Amino acid sequence: MSGNEQKYIQEAFDTNWVAPLGPNVDEFEREIVNYIGANEALAVSSGTAAIHLALSLLNIAKGDSVFCSSLTFVASANPILYQGAEPVFIDSEPDTWNMSPVALERALKDAYLEGNLPKAVIVVNLYGQVAKMDEIQSLCARYDIPIIEDAAESLGSTYKGRVSGTFGEFSIFSFNGNKIITTSGGGALVSPHTELIQRARFLATQARDVAPHYQHSVTGYNYRMSNILAGIGRAQLQVLTDRIEARRKIFERYDQELKQLPGVTFMPELVNTRSNRWLTALTINEEESGITVKELLETLGESNIEARPVWKPLHMQPLFKGNRYYPHDENNHVAKRLFQTGICLPSGSNLTVEEQNRVINCIKKTFFKVTSQGGIL
Ligand SMILES: *Cc1c(COP(=O)(O)O)cnc(C)c1O
Repeated sequence: MSGNEQKYIQEAFDTNWVAPLGPNVDEFEREIVNYIGANEALAVSSGTAAIHLALSLLNIAKGDSVFCSSLTFVASANPILYQGAEPVFIDSEPDTWNMSPVALERALKDAYLEGNLPKAVIVVNLYGQVAKMDEIQSLCARYDIPIIEDAAESLGSTYKGRVSGTFGEFSIFSFNGNKIITTSGGGALVSPHTELIQRARFLATQARDVAPHYQHSVTGYNYRMSNILAGIGRAQLQVLTDRIEARRKIFERYDQELKQLPGVTFMPELVNTRSNRWLTALTINEEESGITVKELLETLGESNIEARPVWKPLHMQPLFKGNRYYPHDENNHVAKRLFQTGICLPSGSNLTVEEQNRVINCIKKTFFKVTSQGGIL
C-alpha cells in the first residue's frame, strides 16, 4: 500500500458509502479515464468480470468462436466458456511473447473459408509487454472483428506512444492483489464507446429496468466494485508511475547481472514500446546452461525465494483439450517453448536491492555449480 488508501477508505466510512457504488467508484472511474485517455471506464469486481461483460456486450453465445492468446492466465479464456462459446488459441511470436500475427492470419483465413469467423479476438499483453498491435489490428479490421485487449498485466505500458487500454473495442484491467496496482480484488472495463460502457454498467448491476418496481428483461450480473475498494484504487493509481519505474529498475538490474550467464535470455521489449515490466521473465536454454527451469525453481525455493514458471499455455491445459490452436509456425511452437524454458523472478515494486542481490547470487551460484561440474564454461 502507498499510504493514502486509508484516507479514501475513511471517507467511505464517514459518509456511510459502504456499497458497490459511491463517490470513490465514480472518482476512480474518472481517474482511470484520465490516465489512459479512454472515453469511459467501468470499475468492476475483477478483471475476469470485465472480460465477461465485454463478451456479453458483443452478444457472444453458444455456437460462436472467440480467438484468444494461448500464453496467458486462464482468466483470459474462462469467460468464453461462461458464454458457452468456443475458444480457439493463437500461439505467441518471439519478439513480444504475445499473439503471433502470422498464426492469427492463418486462423482468420481458415475461419473465413469455413464461414465461421470469430466474434472477437482477445489479445493479451503478457507481463506488461504490449502485443504487436499494428499487425493484429489491421488483420482484425480486414475481417471486421472486434478486439478485446486483455491489459490486466499492462496498465501503464505504452506501444508507439499509445497507452495500453486503448487498443480494443474493449480493454480490461485487473486490480487483483498480484497486479502492479491493486484494490485487493477488482477490475475495469474501458472502451471508446460510451454507450457500450453504459450498457455494461446496466448489466453489471443486475440489469434492472427503469420501473417503479424490480423489473428485469435480460440476464444481469453482480459485478460492480465496492466503494471501499475503489478508495484503495484511487490511492494506488497515484503511485502507478513510481511502481513502473521501480519494476523497470528491477528488470534492468536482473538483466545486467544475469544476461551473461550461458543460455539466459530476458523477455524482449519491442522497439517503440515501453513495458511496465510487471514481472521480470527470462528463458534458460538447457543445452547451453545445463540447467532446467524446474531445477532453478527448486534451488531458489530452497533459499526461500519464490519464483514462478511462465504461464502454461491454454492450448496445453486439460480444460481446453480438444480446442483448436494455431502455432506460430508448424516447426516453432513459441508459447510451448516459453513455458518449458521460462521463469518469472521476484519482481515486487518494494523489492529491495539486498533482496534482489540475494536472488541474483542464488541464480549465479546455481549456474556456477553446474558449469564447473560439467565444464561448460
Ligand atoms: C490477472 C489476470 C486476469 C484476471 O484478472 P482478475 O482480476 O484476477 O479476475 C486476466 N488476464 C490476465 C492476463 C491476468 O493476468
